[in-house]
Amino acid sequence: MIQRRQILQAGTALGALGLISGCATTAGGNGPKVVVIGAGYAGATAAKYIRMWSEGQIQVTLVEPNDTFISCPISNLVIGGSKTMADITTPYDNLVKRHGIQMVKDRVASIDATKRVVKLAGGSELPYDRLIVSPGVDFMWESLPGMSKPGAQDKVLHAWKAGAQTVALRKQLEAMPDGGVFAMSIPLAPYRCPPGPYERACQVAEYFSKSKPKSKVLILDANDDVTSKGPLFKKAWAERYKGIIEYRPKHNVVDVDAATNTLKFEFNDDLKASVLNVIPNMRAGDVAVNAGLATANKRWCEVDFLTFESKALPNVHVLGDAIQVAPLMPKSGHMANQHGKSCAAAVIALLTGKQVNQLPIYNNTCYSFVSSEDVVHVASVHRYDAEKKTMLTVPGSGGVSSAANELEGRYAMAWARNIWADTLA
Ligand SMILES: Cc1cc2nc3c(=O)[nH]c(=O)nc-3n(C[C@H](O)[C@H](O)[C@H](O)COP(=O)(O)OP(=O)(O)OC[C@H]3O[C@@H](n4cnc5c(N)ncnc54)[C@H](O)[C@@H]3O)c2cc1C
Repeated sequence: MIQRRQILQAGTALGALGLISGCATTAGGNGPKVVVIGAGYAGATAAKYIRMWSEGQIQVTLVEPNDTFISCPISNLVIGGSKTMADITTPYDNLVKRHGIQMVKDRVASIDATKRVVKLAGGSELPYDRLIVSPGVDFMWESLPGMSKPGAQDKVLHAWKAGAQTVALRKQLEAMPDGGVFAMSIPLAPYRCPPGPYERACQVAEYFSKSKPKSKVLILDANDDVTSKGPLFKKAWAERYKGIIEYRPKHNVVDVDAATNTLKFEFNDDLKASVLNVIPNMRAGDVAVNAGLATANKRWCEVDFLTFESKALPNVHVLGDAIQVAPLMPKSGHMANQHGKSCAAAVIALLTGKQVNQLPIYNNTCYSFVSSEDVVHVASVHRYDAEKKTMLTVPGSGGVSSAANELEGRYAMAWARNIWADTLA
């Protein structure tokens, strides 16, 4: 039975891609079926590029509960007040209209890898030949017991998934009296976007310097030191935000009392602030963990870097922040977009009996706004190492800014517009 099913699938795949006609099929056609979970930086890119590079011969269904794409990159500027939610929101329409992706507004509840079916929260099922799981991250609330009390998560925000919490955190800052303290906690690495918290501190400090000059930003970092662009951020804090930003390393938050706005640490004294912003420990999105894909410490999903196929479940690929990263590979939107393209090419090859690219190379550029206009970046190139079976940075590639400047600010906004178009247009 399994053999017959496999032969039929191979037949359909080759038939569909074996140049049956020049016309692109829609997602409802007869080609092999790919289901993608999550229309974020990784999933939407993979879905779009499978449709484009297969010339419409592979059916792609993309499942996403959100109405629109809201970008985490640039969301710190909304919190700082120099950008709006409209600036970071893009509709999903083009994925459907231009690329023939079938979008399903729902949440995947579970994956049955034996039957090759995903079950949706709404009750229906979607069969697949290959599944791409790109749900981003979910939070390890169990490591902060007080955050499970009723109302705690509505009061103490993370704003680490752009959307309602981005707006709510901005409102908390606007409502805070001048002279108040904004305290932000950072979890131990690895977490989504290593420089993101330090960028956020700069955005809030710039807002305070202009509108609430007696207020303070306290960064409480579980790590031993700043995890990304350390010298550049420290320079900005010393020169631009002296007396406003205070950085305290080795401050690991182990609980939160939301009723009194108090942080409790592993080794340090309790700390109370006017506005708390707790960025919790994180792991792969629930759907991946529940399916048994998170094989590294039950947190992250190990993959074969040639194809992004899971090491736990066959025919299932995992992308983006949810994976166990290779050395020096950041959990970033840029990287998730690169995963999406690399996986799209591999999935097409696997469904058509062609050889998968044996030397994937991708890059990452990460911009951080130290004010609403001045920016620093770090860049890297990553290449597959056949012996170690992982991605390694190419020696001498990439680099880091020498100083924050406005020209890089313009590059950063161009980067954002380009990646939104590459993912969604
Ligand atoms: C404040 C901040 C600033 C950042 N700045 C940058 C930056 O400047 N540059 C950069 O490169 N990166 C940046 N990042 C990191 C970047 O946002 C992430 O690395 C990127 O979003 C990861 O992409 P992803 O596709 O894995 O996850 P996401 O983009 O989070 O997408 C996951 C999608 O899956 C959906 N989903 C989850 N579960 C299910 C389910 N069960 N069924 C269906 N759908 C589901 C979600 O709704 C979501 O749309 C920043 C992050 C933050 C928080």
